[in-house]
Formats: sequence, structure tokens, C-alpha cells
Amino acid sequence: RLVLGIETSCDDTGAAVMDETGLILAESLHSQKDVHLKTGGIIPMVAQRLHKENIARVVHEVLDKSGIGPRELSAVATTVKPGLALSLGVGLEYSLNFIQQHKTPFIPIHHMEAHALTVRLIQPLPFPFLVLLISGGHCFLAVARDIDDFLLLGQTLDEAPGDTLDKIARRLCLAKHPKCAMLSGGQAIELLAQEGDRLKFHFKSPMGQHYDCNFSFAGVRNQVAQSINKTEEAEGIQQGEILSCANDIAAAIQHTIASHIAKRTHRAILFCKAKGLLPQSNPCLVVSGGVASNTYFRKALKIVTDATNLSLLCPPPKLCTDNGVMIAWNGVEKLREGRGIMSYNDEVRYEPKAPFGTDISVQVK
Ligand code: ATP
Ligand code: FE
Repeated sequence: RLVLGIETSCDDTGAAVMDETGLILAESLHSQKDVHLKTGGIIPMVAQRLHKENIARVVHEVLDKSGIGPRELSAVATTVKPGLALSLGVGLEYSLNFIQQHKTPFIPIHHMEAHALTVRLIQPLPFPFLVLLISGGHCFLAVARDIDDFLLLGQTLDEAPGDTLDKIARRLCLAKHPKCAMLSGGQAIELLAQEGDRLKFHFKSPMGQHYDCNFSFAGVRNQVAQSINKTEEAEGIQQGEILSCANDIAAAIQHTIASHIAKRTHRAILFCKAKGLLPQSNPCLVVSGGVASNTYFRKALKIVTDATNLSLLCPPPKLCTDNGVMIAWNGVEKLREGRGIMSYNDEVRYEPKAPFGTDISVQVK
């Protein structure tokens, strides 16, 4: 059995054809990153237009490369939630036309569940496991208990870490920095941080008095903005120019965010252990989402998992950011279990804001 996966929830148009064993027959990805970097952020209408321009080509490419005809597909799996309404709409409309034309079953996919389960494509990891999703739009800590069962331990109360890094990178004008051309904000900060001294700036770690597993990043961003303002004033530099200490700021912000994420994850691990939520033998922490590509964050999380005897698993960076493969894989997992499969004439809607998992409250001092 074969599944076509389609992803358009944000700014990447992705597709993949996969067989039931998880073998990727073909994959294709069109990234809009270059366009959005120039405008300093994603403009939903621009994202929608670019998805419309590319989706047919991306899908035809994977069908051609894999040599699979539409009628040979057992299902089309498409991201329907959460994401940008205008972007989700393009993928869903295309998929609905496709399945109605070829009478193919449909599997609606939750983008964050797909991020969470991508790891099972790389290695056979049984449920339950702890998963940390850190990306441009989300921040979740959850126990993955089954392909459609997630226990949500914590989430961001304001913005996502990738969003924070992107905004700080913009404030630091890193797009103009000769070393950072065409890098995302998070990548630019990681690169500059390697040459910076994190002790030159101090930002207060968020939520120190909250003994739960939630996250907050907006306060850190405000502290950073104030430091940048002060430094510009002291050095007589105009906003829009690159500060000579940009690398020190990058190192300090990267450290503050890494330590916040590591502390909340540590608390989640202690909670899971106390409640018996993870297996006794080989408990695992999976980290995914675009921000999980960051080596400094991975190192901080490795210290936490080593100290608590968990294995740390991160899918390769290419599978951590948005792609069609993870959507096809989530479709394959659902197809195998016979869950969430719809007929080509069922009504399906996209949901820009969709909850992730069942929420429980965590308190560990
Ligand atoms: P979501 O999955 O929540 O809808 P998204 O799809 O926009 O969000 P991803 O594609 O998973 O997010 O990740 C993009 C984000 O990852 C950007 O904010 C980018 O700055 C960040 N990022 C990418 N590489 C790195 C890195 N090396 N270090 C830190 N952040 C990074
Ligand atoms: Fe994503």
C-alpha cells in the first residue's frame, strides 16, 4: 500500500510518496524561505500564492519520480491543522480535488503530531515516549502514548522559541550580516553565538517561580531588545546597523533559551518518572521541530537526559523542519492501524488553531 503525503501548513510546499514499510519512493520540497527572509517575516497572502504556484508541480514530481499513478495510492494524507489558514487551504483544496478525481481515501493530518512521530520513521521506537517540539510556531512537551494519543505536559504561554529567535535576529539586522546571508533567524543566531561570549550579557531565565512545564519566551525577547537599545545608544549606532557585539548577544540569548528549555524538560522527566508515565526500560526523550536542529540546545538537553538516564533522540535536521515525508509517514501509521481514514466524499475542513493532546497540569518543586 502507498501513501501520498502533502504539507502546506506554513511556508514549505512538501510532498512524498511512501510505502507501508516507511520506504520513501520520492520526496519533493519547495521552500519559500528566501522570499519571506526578504520581507522580514511570512505574509500569509504571499505564502498562499507561492503554495498555489508550486503545489501541482511538487505533487507531480513525487508521482513521476516514484512512477506511481494516482489510482495506485491507498490514501492521500494532508496537513489540515494547525497552521496558517491561507496556507492550509491550498493543500486541502488541492487534495480534495485530487481524491475526488481519483476516488482515493483521505487521511487528515495534525502537523504537530506528525512532527512528534517522525522519529519512528528513523527507528522503531515503541510508545510511550516523552517528546519536546520546538519550532517556529509551537513549543510543546508531551508524552506520546499512541499514534493519536498525546498527554500535554506543557506549552508556551506566549510565543514559540523559533519565533523569538527570528524576531531577535531581525532586531539585530542579521539578514544584512555577511556571514548570515539566507540563514533563518535561528540558524544565524546559532552561527554567531559560536564566536560570542555569552557572559558579556545576562538575561534572566523565565518562569523561575512557576513549578510547571510551561514555557515563556516573550520576556526574554523584551530584555534582549532593551539591551540592544542601550548598546546602540552607548555606542552611538543607528537602529539598522549591525552591532559589533551581536555575537555576544547571540551567545547569551541562545544560552538563556537553552537553559529555560532544559529546565522545563528536566521537570517533565521528573514528573513522568514520579507518575510512571514512561517505560522502565530505555525511556526516551524525542526532540523535533526546526529549533531542534540547534546543536547548543541539543547539548543542553543531552546533559538533562544523561542525568536522568533517558536516551535523547533527534531526527536529522531535514526531517525536523517541515516536509512532506513526515506527513506521508503519519498517514502510513494511521493507515496501518486503520485510524482516521475518511472517504473521498466526506466533508473535511482545515483548522488553523487546533489543540495538541490532552492537557494535564504538572507541578514539581
Ligand atoms: P510549526 O511547525 O510550529 O508550524 P514552522 O513549521 O514554521 O513551525 P519549523 O519549520 O519546524 O517551524 O522551524 C522553523 C524555525 O526553526 C524558525 O523559527 C527557525 O529560526 C528555527 N531554526 C532553524 N534552524 C535553527 C537552528 N539551528 N537553531 C535555532 N533555531 C533554528
Ligand atoms: Fe512545522
